[in-house]
Amino acid sequence: MQGDSLILMRGVMEMTQPFLKIKDLQVQIEDKQILKGLNLEMKEGEIHVIMGPNGAGKSTLANVLMGHPKYQVIAGDIEFRGTDITTLKPHERAQLGLFLSFQYPQEIAGITLENFLRSAKGAVDQKQMKVLEFHKLLKAKMELLEMKPEYAERYLNHGFSGGEKKKSEILQMLILDPKLAIMDETDSGLDVDAVRVVAKGVTEYHHGENSMLIITHHRSLLEYIEPDFVHFLVDGRIVESGGSELVEHVEQAGFAAYKA
Ligand code: ADP
Ligand code: MG
Repeated sequence: MQGDSLILMRGVMEMTQPFLKIKDLQVQIEDKQILKGLNLEMKEGEIHVIMGPNGAGKSTLANVLMGHPKYQVIAGDIEFRGTDITTLKPHERAQLGLFLSFQYPQEIAGITLENFLRSAKGAVDQKQMKVLEFHKLLKAKMELLEMKPEYAERYLNHGFSGGEKKKSEILQMLILDPKLAIMDETDSGLDVDAVRVVAKGVTEYHHGENSMLIITHHRSLLEYIEPDFVHFLVDGRIVESGGSELVEHVEQAGFAAYKA
C-alpha cells in the first residue's frame, strides 16, 4: 500500500514539476554581463521559439543551457526535469537528455559522420548500439533528411555546404533523440528547400514527451512548425511572451520598442 502511494506521489510530482525552469539567470562572458535576469519555463511536449536582435544573448542562452565552460553563471539557476543542472558538465547534461544544434557546426577531419554519431549516441545513452543496428537507423534518418548515403562515410561536416552541415545537425538530433532539443538558428542561411527538410526533421523528432527551444530570426521555419509560445529576448532578458501572433509583430515592427 505504502509503495503504491509512493509511486502515485512520484507520478504526480513528475506531472507538476516543470520540464525546464530557468530562474533569474545572469551570465557573463569575459567580464561582460550578457544575460541579465532571464526567466523561462517550459513544459513537456511544448515548442518554444526565441526571437531577438543580434547580440541580445540568444546563443549565450543556448550555450549556457548546454554548459559551455566559457559562459559564467553569476546568479540564478536552471532546473531540468527535477534536477538542478546549473553546474553540471556538458556531457552530464547530454546524458540527462539535452541537445544543442549549433549555429556554426564544426568540421572535424579524421572521423566519419557515421562513427561520430555512433560514438556520440553510445556516450549519451551509456550503451553501445550494435554496428548493423546503428547503420540501419542512420540510413533511415538520412533518407528522411534527403542526405546521400555516401555522406555517412565522409569526415564530419568536412567540406559540407552550409545546408548539409545543418542537415547533419538535425541528423544528430534524430539519432540522439534528446528530451530537450535546442536549435540555435539552424534555419539561418538555408534555401527554401533546406528549410523544408529541417522542418521535416523537426516534425519527425517532436512528440508529446520531448520539447524544443528554437532560436530563429526567420518566419520560414515557423510556416511548418506551430510553436506553443514565442518569446522576445532583448538585452539579456525575456521582454515579451505570447503565442505565434508575436512572430508577425516582429516582422512588422522589429524589436525597436523593446530596446533598453
Ligand atoms: P545573439 O545570439 O542573440 O546574437 P550572443 O549570445 O551570441 O547574441 O551574444 C551576446 C553578446 O555577447 C554580444 O554582445 C557578443 O558580442 C557577446 N559575446 C558572445 N560570445 C562572446 C565571446 N565568446 N567572447 C566575447 N563576447 C562574446
Ligand atoms: Mg546567436
